[in-house]
Amino acid sequence: MTRPVFRFAPSPNGRLHLGHALSALLNADMARRAGGRLLVRIEDIDRARCTPELEAAMLADLAWLGVSWEAPVRRQSEHFSDYAAALARLEAMGLLYRGYLTRGEIRQAVADFEAREGTPFPRDPDGAPLYPGDAAVLPEEEIGARAAAGAPFALRLDMNAALARLAAPLAWKELGEDGRVAEIAADPARWGDVVLARKDTPTSYHLSVVLDDALQGVTHVVRGRDLFEATAVHRLLQMLLGLGEPVYRHHRLVLDGDGRKLSKSRGDTALAELRAQGAGPADIRAMVGLA
Ligand code: GLU
Repeated sequence: MTRPVFRFAPSPNGRLHLGHALSALLNADMARRAGGRLLVRIEDIDRARCTPELEAAMLADLAWLGVSWEAPVRRQSEHFSDYAAALARLEAMGLLYRGYLTRGEIRQAVADFEAREGTPFPRDPDGAPLYPGDAAVLPEEEIGARAAAGAPFALRLDMNAALARLAAPLAWKELGEDGRVAEIAADPARWGDVVLARKDTPTSYHLSVVLDDALQGVTHVVRGRDLFEATAVHRLLQMLLGLGEPVYRHHRLVLDGDGRKLSKSRGDTALAELRAQGAGPADIRAMVGLA
């Protein structure tokens, strides 16, 4: 029997905090109980915010927590060619287009729409406006001029064209805390034409996470509830690229005293800070509600 494969996939753009600790410890606990393997993947496609120093600090924090993983770690920044190959396949299927709009232009288009229509502009599950499409915002000559001038563009998934390729409704398998697997209906259309390659980075979170999970043979994706809705996009990409389907488990988030999700920008719950205050790995387990 092949052993289940789990992964913890942090982005080294800050220090590890209690939210990461819950995710890493849950992955480690579940892998151990299942007789499985635990991989660590460094999601460092954002070359401006991720640094080798932060990566080293994250791995040191993880080791201090008592988590052990298989070497070597996969570093996404070393695999841009894998993502380029997947993009080329989607491109050949006619599912990608170039989006030239800037953030400011999208913001303006949304404000204009809301002022004109008196209704909110459609938004994705994270609250970001759906891509309005270049043609809805820019005159045709301007789009042509940008293309001719080699202006930066994002590669976006043509969601309607992608959905038209599905033979059956999409769903994913969600493993509950009670060990039961539920089928969750996936509705990727809610995300609109998602970015698959950013203007500044030749890939995106959605594309690289799906590809790496498949390339690394991940069978169990255990991650925070904040990524629950994004799984619809991940299932769609798996179908389009003919990739296998892991089981998902979206765990509760560790909230701060005000009920807000922890973030790396607030240093208050960084493991390094708690450690400096005298906390040990067992205290961290207790703080994130693990026995
Ligand atoms: N790199 C993502 C993060 O740090 C997690 C991605 C995932 O687990 O799918 O939030």
